[in-house]
Amino acid sequence: MNTVKDAKRIVIKVGTSTLTHSTGKTNIRRMEKLTSVISDLQNSGHETVLVSSGAIGVGAGKLGMKTKPKETADKQAAATVGQCELMFMYDKFFSEYGQVVGQVLLTRSDIEDPERRVNLMNNFEKLFNYGVIPIINENDCVAVDEIVYGDNDSLSAIVAKMVSADLLIILTDIDGLFTANPKEDETAHIVPVVHELTDEIMALAGPSGTKLGTGGMVTKLQAAKIAGDAGIDTVIMNGADPTDLYKLLDGRQIGTVIKASK
Ligand code: GLU
Repeated sequence: MNTVKDAKRIVIKVGTSTLTHSTGKTNIRRMEKLTSVISDLQNSGHETVLVSSGAIGVGAGKLGMKTKPKETADKQAAATVGQCELMFMYDKFFSEYGQVVGQVLLTRSDIEDPERRVNLMNNFEKLFNYGVIPIINENDCVAVDEIVYGDNDSLSAIVAKMVSADLLIILTDIDGLFTANPKEDETAHIVPVVHELTDEIMALAGPSGTKLGTGGMVTKLQAAKIAGDAGIDTVIMNGADPTDLYKLLDGRQIGTVIKASK
């Protein structure tokens, strides 16, 4: 089976850089395209879960913060305001395309507590039965240091595992995993398929994840490892043109596919 082409239940993770302009305001054109493509995928029989960042970025813009907040309390205030704006936009756009969305805000303890985990899994199944698109983010207004996932890449992989997704797609601001930093090395090219997340492959992401730009490749590969260990393939691709999702699911080579380890 071609796991990308045949995937039915798909978790799509979208990062702040895809959803916002450098001003911190929402990238309306991008959001409109993304929601239209996901709606169409949903109409064609896919079950989609959207893991969306952007709460802190959008909230910071809305609160007039000049730079991205560093203090936890400021991050929480920004996230509280931004999450509301994000969901308003998603609800508006998805409604225009005839879709119903639901907000799921999670913390590590929700997922690790066996009882809450089961409640969550039951809720997801019910949402799928009703054809709802769950939109997930970390519950940043309560998630402080010790309970924080911090990056939605890991969260998206954990969600993919929890809903037994067929595929995890991570949309970012770089085309995929490169053999070297494309900004510094013109021979750098995309690795189309990764069969095993060896130390050599992990090293391509660079030590801090900044080597290949703002995409934070390290956390994406770590997410692919979590998904892969659960038998789920991951695709890392550019979210600049959401219609690329059609090409990907039609079986075209887009981004980097990281094959599951089992
Ligand atoms: N939960 C954070 C937000 O919505 C994003 C975390 C991340 O960038 O992965 O702003």
